Amino acid sequence: MILNDIADGLLRGVENIGQSVSGAFSEPVIRLGVTGLSRAGKTVFITSLVANLMDRGRMPQLAAAATGAIRAAYLQPQPDDTVPRFDYETHLAAITGDTPHWPESTRAVSELRLSLKVQGGGLLGSVSGPRVVHLDIVDYPGEWLLDLGLMEKSYDDWSADVLDRIASRPQAVDFLALARATDPGAKLDEVQAQTLARVFTAYLGAARDGGYSDCTPGRFLLPGDLAGSPVLTFAPLPMAEGAGRGGLRREFARRYEAYKRQVVRPFFRDHFARIDRQVVLVDALGAIHSGPQAVEDLRRAMADILGAFRPGRNAWLAPLLRGRRVDHILFAATKADHLHHSQHARLTAIMQALVRDAKDRADYAGAKTMAMSIAALRATVEETLTHDGRSLDCVRGTLLDTGKQAALYPGALPDDPARILSPARSGQQGWLGDDYNIMHFAPARLTLKPGEGPPHIRLDRAAEFLIGDRLR
Ligand code: GDP
Repeated sequence: MILNDIADGLLRGVENIGQSVSGAFSEPVIRLGVTGLSRAGKTVFITSLVANLMDRGRMPQLAAAATGAIRAAYLQPQPDDTVPRFDYETHLAAITGDTPHWPESTRAVSELRLSLKVQGGGLLGSVSGPRVVHLDIVDYPGEWLLDLGLMEKSYDDWSADVLDRIASRPQAVDFLALARATDPGAKLDEVQAQTLARVFTAYLGAARDGGYSDCTPGRFLLPGDLAGSPVLTFAPLPMAEGAGRGGLRREFARRYEAYKRQVVRPFFRDHFARIDRQVVLVDALGAIHSGPQAVEDLRRAMADILGAFRPGRNAWLAPLLRGRRVDHILFAATKADHLHHSQHARLTAIMQALVRDAKDRADYAGAKTMAMSIAALRATVEETLTHDGRSLDCVRGTLLDTGKQAALYPGALPDDPARILSPARSGQQGWLGDDYNIMHFAPARLTLKPGEGPPHIRLDRAAEFLIGDRLR
């Protein structure tokens, strides 16, 4: 481990020298990380952001777009040859085609380079002519950040934590029964190991579908090209007296360590450590719809995820970062088009409260942070209906499962975020007296005018916060 650290340090040192030397002559690069838990909206966000940076007619709040400072935007080959390219064209075709549909979600890390030709303002800008700024967008699952929590945890501690946390979850019944029936000291049997890993993965999938966010190890659900490999073939098991060498539990502990060393660590070193700006997307509405427990679980997962942005706290991570840090972090509640705009401020307040602790610490560490409600792709229109003599602010769209048009009144979010977060913290089963509805809308069919990207809510403000200062 220590040897690894030194080798990493040396390598990064060389890399940094390379970067600063070439940086003096070459074009500036912004590395924008886009993360969030599964289904938070990363793929749709990146697709719409890139489309709206290429055709900037709907980006008035991005100053460099409004003033015309961005002269052109074009896609270029990315700098990292071994990272899959974000499949922008396919995803854009999905949402802008004749039968629009949602694109396939993020399953692993991917990257895209958008280059912007920018004419700076003032005397200097007019003398020096346009310059090129590269925006390297790095898309990666938030679940992988949750793995940071494993780095300083032994297999024994991790197993005990997980078994304790899932003890009362209905989704875990099968796995718990299997774990109980397993002799941790028995000789390793690969078929048995695979069965345990498979049933544990099935539990993680069911827990995630049930609205839980604490579904680590992150690669079990999003294995990328590691599916079926021994680093993903383990599961938590209870402590066993005198479990000897070669026993199942010992082997699981070894694989757990291999997972940390060969999967988690390279991700943080090769991808995370190089990010300058970060957007964390959060499906807060989805969690509210699922109920107080899902909200509490989301709050905890966010705290864990955001721990990665506090370099000082992670003795393990700090050497990999070598003084670099993310200096702008945006927390965005996605899919705000499920709400009438009169409720957006409340959603933002809930978002703010959800990440409050973590945000305060990031602020303290010097990063600029902001919370916002956005919709990367607006799938609805607003409508006010009268019901029982009361006027209701609704949204209307095409339902995903039936293809029919419907108006939705999602329920009124409270003014005070504590009315959501307190019941969540105290473990309440359901919302008392309140009901929050969600319908799944299909993307609307678009007729875009020349120069216009897909419709969105506040994507331009998000872009201004994330990269605006680098485009002046
Ligand atoms: P990822 O797993 O983070 O890549 O999530 P996706 O970008 O694939 O989004 C997951 C799902 O959320 C999509 O299939 C849509 O159903 C929904 N979604 C994402 N963004 C929006 C949005 O801006 N508006 C609406 N109405 N739904 C969205």
